[in-house]
Amino acid sequence: MKMLKVLLQNLIKGPSTDPFPFGETFTPKGLRARIRFDETACTGCRMCEHVCAGGAIRFHDSPNGLEFTLWHNTCTFCGLCEHYCVPKAIKLTEDWHLAHKQEDKYTMTETGTVALIQCVQCRKKIIPTSQQLNAVAYKSSNEMIKRLGRMCPDCRRELSTKLLIKGESV
Ligand code: SF4
Ligand code: SF4
Repeated sequence: MKMLKVLLQNLIKGPSTDPFPFGETFTPKGLRARIRFDETACTGCRMCEHVCAGGAIRFHDSPNGLEFTLWHNTCTFCGLCEHYCVPKAIKLTEDWHLAHKQEDKYTMTETGTVALIQCVQCRKKIIPTSQQLNAVAYKSSNEMIKRLGRMCPDCRRELSTKLLIKGESV
């Protein structure tokens, strides 16, 4: 009799379980899910690769620049890469639609290429400082800061030393 009562109550109230995947569901606020990479903000420091305990991030050099690959299948969504990325080129979104077939595990990736430029002084190929990094490092930008960001470390060091000797700063 008790069972029939429960059954009747449930029939009147309808299902109390989440309808997904046959209907809409909700996204908890602050959920850490699909990762987005902004190749224009990245400065190629590779800190995200270093802190990723799961080994989900790999960089490799190519003629086009520094290639970034992140395997969502390996990621634990710990958020360390985002935390340590100063220019915020890597971000975890709330998009959790990552279910995939086993055979697609190697294609569940986020990729990008950090483009190389030539050092404005010696023409060596380098990754420039991104605007996003400058915005974090300096209160306001100027032509000298932009120029330094487009130089290789050696030329930057040389120019900074010359400026210091002359008593000038950026
Ligand atoms: S994504 Fe961020 S932490 Fe990773 S290499 Fe680029 S700038 Fe560095
Ligand atoms: S969220 Fe964690 S596991 Fe995923 S790529 Fe970033 S550091 Fe690696």
